Amino acid sequence: MNDGLARRQVGESAAGERPAVRGFILASDLRALRGWLPGGLDDLLDALSADERALCRSVRPTAWVPLELIERLLAAAAGALNVRPAELADRLGVALADQKIASLMGVAVRARSPELLVSNAGYLWVSLYSPGEATISLDLPSHKRIEVHGGPPHGPAVCGRNLGFGRRALEMTGATAIRIVHFRCISGGDPHCAYDVQWGEGGTAR
Ligand SMILES: [Zn+2]
Repeated sequence: MNDGLARRQVGESAAGERPAVRGFILASDLRALRGWLPGGLDDLLDALSADERALCRSVRPTAWVPLELIERLLAAAAGALNVRPAELADRLGVALADQKIASLMGVAVRARSPELLVSNAGYLWVSLYSPGEATISLDLPSHKRIEVHGGPPHGPAVCGRNLGFGRRALEMTGATAIRIVHFRCISGGDPHCAYDVQWGEGGTAR
């Protein structure tokens, strides 16, 4: 796991206390939305400030980008595509997994093990988001619970993305009958976010 991404240690926050995501999330979103929006990115970028436009055009993959910008882009794109923001965030999570899973989770994916992938949830969180940390609160074979504490207040850009990303990343390890339920969410008033993750082996759900 030495790809230089996880420079933020657990308990440490990047970009001051400002909720932030990695630059490669912004780059991945823009790449996907360019293909999905009928008119490309022009309308989306026109609605931003000059600084934000410049950031979008030359974002460094390892830079920290304000979460608020990602949320705003998601809302605007969902409006243009006439889909729910949570649904679009899920699709963006799938696109992110397709683009970045190899470098983020190279060891886990080569091992083709869903167990190993999920056991890296803490590493993934600090690689993608600031602040907060992800821990595994239930650890059974093919059934885990992941809790995120101290995470940024957020809308669907985080949780919807995590659902799509997690599902796709598990598929890429060969897991089948994948079921991820986001049963607690700070955007719904809960003190933290929690995900229940289950999968089957060889096509048999447990
Ligand atoms: Zn949540």
